[in-house]
Amino acid sequence: MGSDCLFCRIVAGEIPATVVRETPTTLAFRDIDPKAPVHVLVVPKEHYADVATLGQGDPALAGEVLATAAAVAEDEGLLGDGFRLMFNTGAYGGQEVFHVHAHVLGGAPLGPMLARNLG
Ligand code: AMP
Ligand code: ZN
Repeated sequence: MGSDCLFCRIVAGEIPATVVRETPTTLAFRDIDPKAPVHVLVVPKEHYADVATLGQGDPALAGEVLATAAAVAEDEGLLGDGFRLMFNTGAYGGQEVFHVHAHVLGGAPLGPMLARNLG
């Protein structure tokens, strides 16, 4: 993938991001347009389009993304009050960037899981 993918470019250091955690296989950085007091994205450094592709293609790496997300939640002080971990996937899931990323959201009550706005 590489130069065409926004998050590959962040992983490569070509586009700046506020990195909060890095492991050999994952990177966590703050969302540029936060939807909660804490909003961090966790990506595998290797390009997978979405969580379905990652989960089936490299379940161990998917586990590393989860471990990094949990460490971020701990660092951000979210474990006591709780938080939400979200993978938007595909068109109906509202995915906009096609490099898999976990949203770590917290720091305030987040409301219901989904607004009841389904057609
Ligand atoms: P999704 O809709 O699940 O694909 O989420 C994409 C997320 O990436 C959104 O929450 C955006 O605010 C976020 N985003 C887009 N560009 C950047 C960037 N350059 N740095 C950090 N986050 C970004
Ligand atoms: Zn990518």
